[in-house]
Amino acid sequence: MELQLLKTTEKRYQLLNQMNIFSLEDIVQYYPYRYDIIEEAYPSINDERIIIEAVVISPVKIFFRGRMSRMTFEVEDQYHQKYQVIIFNRHFLRQYLKLNTIITIIGKCQNHKITASDIKIKSINEIKGIHPVYSIKDGLTQKSFQQYVKKSLSLLNGKIESYVPEEMMIKHQLIHKNVALWNIHFPESQNDIKQSLKFLKYEEFLKFQLTMQLIKQKRSHELGIRKEFEIEKLQSFILNLPFQLTKDQQVAVKEIVEDLRNPQMMYRFLQGDVGSGKTVVSAIALYANFLAGYQGALMAPTEILARQHYQTLISFFKTIDIKIVLLTGSLSLKEKEIIYQDIQEGNVDIIVGTHALFQKKVQYHQLGFVITDEQHRFGVEQRKAIKNKGSQVDFLIMSATPIPRTLAISMYGDMEVSTIKTMPNGRLPVQTKFIQSSSMKPILTHLKEYLASGGQCYVICPLVEDSEVLEARSASQIAEAMQNYFRDNYQVGLLHGQMKDQEKDEIMNQFQQNDIQILVSTTVVEVGVDVKNANMMVIYNAERFGMSQLHQLRGRVGRGNQQAYCYMMSSSTSKDAVERLKYMEKSHDGFEISMYDLQLRGPGEVLGNRQSGVPTFLIADILKDFPVLQIARDDAIYLIDKYKKGIGYQELIQKIEKNLSVNNEYID
Ligand code: ADP
Ligand code: MG
Repeated sequence: MELQLLKTTEKRYQLLNQMNIFSLEDIVQYYPYRYDIIEEAYPSINDERIIIEAVVISPVKIFFRGRMSRMTFEVEDQYHQKYQVIIFNRHFLRQYLKLNTIITIIGKCQNHKITASDIKIKSINEIKGIHPVYSIKDGLTQKSFQQYVKKSLSLLNGKIESYVPEEMMIKHQLIHKNVALWNIHFPESQNDIKQSLKFLKYEEFLKFQLTMQLIKQKRSHELGIRKEFEIEKLQSFILNLPFQLTKDQQVAVKEIVEDLRNPQMMYRFLQGDVGSGKTVVSAIALYANFLAGYQGALMAPTEILARQHYQTLISFFKTIDIKIVLLTGSLSLKEKEIIYQDIQEGNVDIIVGTHALFQKKVQYHQLGFVITDEQHRFGVEQRKAIKNKGSQVDFLIMSATPIPRTLAISMYGDMEVSTIKTMPNGRLPVQTKFIQSSSMKPILTHLKEYLASGGQCYVICPLVEDSEVLEARSASQIAEAMQNYFRDNYQVGLLHGQMKDQEKDEIMNQFQQNDIQILVSTTVVEVGVDVKNANMMVIYNAERFGMSQLHQLRGRVGRGNQQAYCYMMSSSTSKDAVERLKYMEKSHDGFEISMYDLQLRGPGEVLGNRQSGVPTFLIADILKDFPVLQIARDDAIYLIDKYKKGIGYQELIQKIEKNLSVNNEYID
């Protein structure tokens, strides 16, 4: 229903819109982010949070800065404890805060100084109860927002459809949706909140899982290509690789090859820790596709990485008659034209590149298979473009931020998942050390020794949020200082996001050939780069990076059988930062690290935003509520199965399908 039914001011509609609220349904689904539970006055000094009833004992001082304000005054509680109170942007309360007024203060307290989040001009008895707190824009108040919620609920009057069928309501002992919605906003007890959450989380997950399962089933009906080839040829290729595949690689290969050979479209997610050897798996898969007579494409997120994949494939296919081409944005127009023509005429078999692969001009000749590396960096649009190049292509998505299989299955519910957990034999964990310093001094001796022994080193510069320019500047400064220091002994190279792709490639090539010994870089080297002789890494301001990102960065070294070292420098004294970096010293398991990181920062931050296919939820939390997610998944499979057999649930499934066609955010 229309928001206009609230009959409020234009200004307020705008504020609501800014909160992503466009209908009454949106309002009732805008849930409190916490509750203030007021039972009685408890001036507890140890506890940071405080709710007290007190009397105003000083005049109010008020300071303005523009439209912002800060008010301070003193109060005394019934135990004759005095407090100083500070509250921001509530100057309209001043008129009520007269001497001797009884008020209730909610806030944080330290050393008898309260920073109030709310002040009520009432005694605590009058406001006993549970008060929801919403995250709202300045210009709205908690009170006015609650009134909107109340009004919306009454206007909607039970017309909010539930996605939970009766059978599941009974099975899980859920309260009715209307009750859940009312009680989440206006609870009378903690149990009300608990029961509401139980329903709402389950419903959100069930809807998501029904959607995922339906997409998956739709896809399985889309006929793909049954690829047939001589399996012996593939086997002999695998036997002739310079190493033996790990067990997990073998399993992944088997799963992928089976997908290629059966008539359904492949939609598979291949995840494995940095250095676990996903690239060779993709090479084998591309070879199988080639043997079946189809073109294949491998898409990388950066030009550097595309070139590297290209070179890797060339070396894997040295003795085989297969044509591989590299297509990137930095080629000249003429070069591109030639490649386009070769692709179209089927003169090339494997095309490696960046998203340039899927521009309009590129016409494929029997494209049968697309692999993307580091999937969580590709957006919805790009993936759609790929599909348009060949409607029946098989699809493999590789990711180096691995998560536990069960979580992956639930999160990427519409894909099959292959996981590489074991590392190739003989891999030594990277010796990681957290150095509490902002300069390189403590590690210079080691660095010099290491360079003298013929090794190469990465130096990763501080991450500057939202400013590639500043980041580039700091990288340049560090590079200059290092070049000064090492003068003629070693060559220092610089790599940052402000450079042209061609320049980046140039530098990367020089590093690969050991013309450069020290590569000073921003996170552009984060993904995939493989220089076996570089086994030392120094990371500046390590606290600014996410843990998965640190693990990715660290994965650039230790890619051969030599001992590698990673120094994570930080002068931060924040307890969290220190804890995280200490954890990085100990853990070398990408799965463990990504779980830790997910808990700290949430899936959106770690794996990419909604654009990249990571689902977002209004009230449920994919990690904390994971058991519910699994239950919802089983239920979704069960319900769809029943529907297929014609035993009910028509209405529910049709509703989901209708949403799907209108709003295909989960589809590609
Ligand atoms: P990922 O892409 O998963 O980070 P790569 O595919 O780049 O990892 O592999 C890392 C390195 O390990 C590469 O140099 C690769 O040649 C090597 N490698 C891959 N599989 C094996 C294996 N089974 N045994 C030994 N080395 C391997
Ligand atoms: Mg890789």
